[in-house]
Amino acid sequence: QSLIDDVDPDTATMSLPQSDERRWSDTSAYARKKILQSWIQLPSGNWELGKILSTSGEESVINLPDGKVIKVISETLVPANPDILDGVDDLMQLSYLNEPSVLYNLNYRYNQDMIYTKAGPVLVAVNPFKEVPLYGNRNIEAYRKRSNESPHVYAIADTAIREMIRDEVNQSIIISGESGAGKTETAKIAMQYLAALGGGSGIEYEILKTNPILEAFGNAKTLRNDNSSRFGKLIEIHFSESGKISGAQVQTSNLVFFFFACYSNYAVLLEKSRVVQCAEGERSYHIFYQLCAGASPALREKLNLTSAHEYKYLGQSNCYSINGVDDAERFRTVKEALDIVHVSKEDQESVFAMLAAVLWLGNVTFSVVDNENHVEPVEDESLSTVAKLIGCNINDLTLTLSKRKMRVRNDTIVQKLTLPQAIDARDALAKSIYSCLFDWLVEQINKSLAVGKRRTGRSISILDIYGFESFDKNSFEQFCINYANERLQQHFNRHLFKLEQEEYIQDGIDWTRVDFEDNQDCLSLFEKKPLGLLSLLDEESTFPNGTDMTLANKLKEHLHSNSCFRGDKGKLFTVVHYAGEVTYETTGFLEKNRDLLHLDSIHLLSSCSCLLPQAFASSMLIQSEKPVAGPLYKAGGADSQRLSVATKFKGQLFQLMQRLGNTTPHFIRCIKPNNVQSPGLYEQGLVLQQLRCCGVLEVVRISRSGFPTRMSHQKFSRRYGFLLVENIADKDPLSVSVAILHQFNILPEMYQVGYTKLFFRTGQIGVLEDTRNRT
Ligand code: ATP
Ligand code: MG
Repeated sequence: QSLIDDVDPDTATMSLPQSDERRWSDTSAYARKKILQSWIQLPSGNWELGKILSTSGEESVINLPDGKVIKVISETLVPANPDILDGVDDLMQLSYLNEPSVLYNLNYRYNQDMIYTKAGPVLVAVNPFKEVPLYGNRNIEAYRKRSNESPHVYAIADTAIREMIRDEVNQSIIISGESGAGKTETAKIAMQYLAALGGGSGIEYEILKTNPILEAFGNAKTLRNDNSSRFGKLIEIHFSESGKISGAQVQTSNLVFFFFACYSNYAVLLEKSRVVQCAEGERSYHIFYQLCAGASPALREKLNLTSAHEYKYLGQSNCYSINGVDDAERFRTVKEALDIVHVSKEDQESVFAMLAAVLWLGNVTFSVVDNENHVEPVEDESLSTVAKLIGCNINDLTLTLSKRKMRVRNDTIVQKLTLPQAIDARDALAKSIYSCLFDWLVEQINKSLAVGKRRTGRSISILDIYGFESFDKNSFEQFCINYANERLQQHFNRHLFKLEQEEYIQDGIDWTRVDFEDNQDCLSLFEKKPLGLLSLLDEESTFPNGTDMTLANKLKEHLHSNSCFRGDKGKLFTVVHYAGEVTYETTGFLEKNRDLLHLDSIHLLSSCSCLLPQAFASSMLIQSEKPVAGPLYKAGGADSQRLSVATKFKGQLFQLMQRLGNTTPHFIRCIKPNNVQSPGLYEQGLVLQQLRCCGVLEVVRISRSGFPTRMSHQKFSRRYGFLLVENIADKDPLSVSVAILHQFNILPEMYQVGYTKLFFRTGQIGVLEDTRNRT
């Protein structure tokens, strides 16, 4: 016991040498000498807690939990925290902040269903993979009243609302994590809280009902997640003017809440390829299986619908169902949700018809019609059903799938298609129909939510976007996803570290500079013009003769000296991302980037008699909204002209970052504790790798040594000045601020007074706020 008392936790951690590696840990000789328990790394890589029996010279004798006594080199010991700190709810409270201690703490809490833990300003959420009793109205109420203050998504949402009102600044909740880590669930939980607080107008019910729709059309079963989102989304929830209660009147205990609209969904790059192709054991988008399982007999007949097993697009991955999910039941939920967001029965039927058309299109086969291997679609049930469902002439459809019109200068030439070309044309058409449909749905949802409501006042945006991905084989999709994550990581870094540090320095605060990793180099590798990954990719995509191999060579030729790039053999190249190295294979890059839709298909989509022309037009509009500078395609002999996928993606990403740039961000990092989606299983190595990836450990260290809360003297004196007993009428804001600090006995080590602002350690403002609210 006496040994624990001896440890001065603050000195022990603060005296840490500034480690140059990111896996820093406090193993200073000072700390080691005073500890009772220590972490020992086993050959498996896992950490085990041991009691230190004795230390003599270089060696220590340790007692392991299984009773074994071992000798280890003292240098390798990593100090463990006293038991009294087991399961603290903010990692910042740990005396010893090293990787095993953080892992242990999260694990300790996880075992008791305390899945949320703060890491300074960041909320860490460990996926429970089971129902935990943390949600629902009673819990919402507790967080609203602040009678429960343990870390929670509700608490984050609550803080966002309060800061929105207090600072009159829009807020964002940025959720990140690997596939299956729980981002989408977390986003829904945050929405639940905001909706509950805005109760009464009915719109909150509508907002929550958009989830089943977007999930049915944008999520699919993958090997990593049975309900994986294959698009990124930003949900913007707007609050009315009347929610802007003037500063001094805000009562935290009975916060009046005016929630009036609305929701703007901002879908980024839906993974289209999944419609026509998916890997063994995965599924296409949920809605296809739901439709096949749940359609009424009348609808079946109308759409000539059969079972999922009959459709080739759905059959290729050998996976039709998801454990514990009733697709027919889900179909009813989706229809109900469509009703609620005011998609008419008629439009709903059209949507289902388009889905059926996509499925039947996959069954269209081709036969050779001449001795040059040109093909035409076989005139069978599939072909005629597609034509009927999308409302076009069967001949037009046949033409689209067998010939390609191209404009060459002023002439139009017609090229007949070979089998691979015809299959490409068919799949491209299916993908377009589906993605138009998706865009159209998002638009309908937005229209419905915005009915008659002005978008004024303030908003809270929730970002749920695919996390960093690194597989054995990484293609164009991972390339885009990881690029987006690189940008988001920079946003995170900049916000938490750079801005903070710059502000200290600017305000004349004595604060030792803390180094942090910036990923600007990697972003430049992607974005630099003309010699960056995106520019080179676009350039190669415009060359009719460009191939995946010429692309790989081009990248290697121009980028070999970049420290974030490595050319590997053949079509492989490696990018050094903030979260680790990823090796990409250029196979399919050019085709996916061009994403060509032939003129004939465009013509077909814009002229058939179904909702597609309308959807197609609005989808094109979305894509060309705020056009970004980039090459227009004239590939394949001028048969199509549009922006490359990478350029569009970058444009959307920039828009997204711009929106986020004007908000106060709140970060939630979701962690996946195992790869098998089961409850109660916590794999140390997997968790550690994610904690490193998302910078959680760095954040804690920096926040602890810094002053994360700050307020200008003006604001501070205005907000709390009236609590002062002395007369302050003729005093400047700085003096008032100092007087407040003195009156409330805020300890000198808990704040610093800057030129323009006050800087506080975490938790200091709370006392003042409480007093203020009681007054
Ligand atoms: P992706 O990037 O693939 O879309 P994701 O991070 O959005 O993944 P989710 O779909 O949110 O992951 O979560 C995966 C699964 O984990 C959920 O379907 C659910 O079963 C479980 N899960 C996540 N969060 C929770 C939670 N708070 N409570 C209970 N179960 C959860
Ligand atoms: Mg998701």
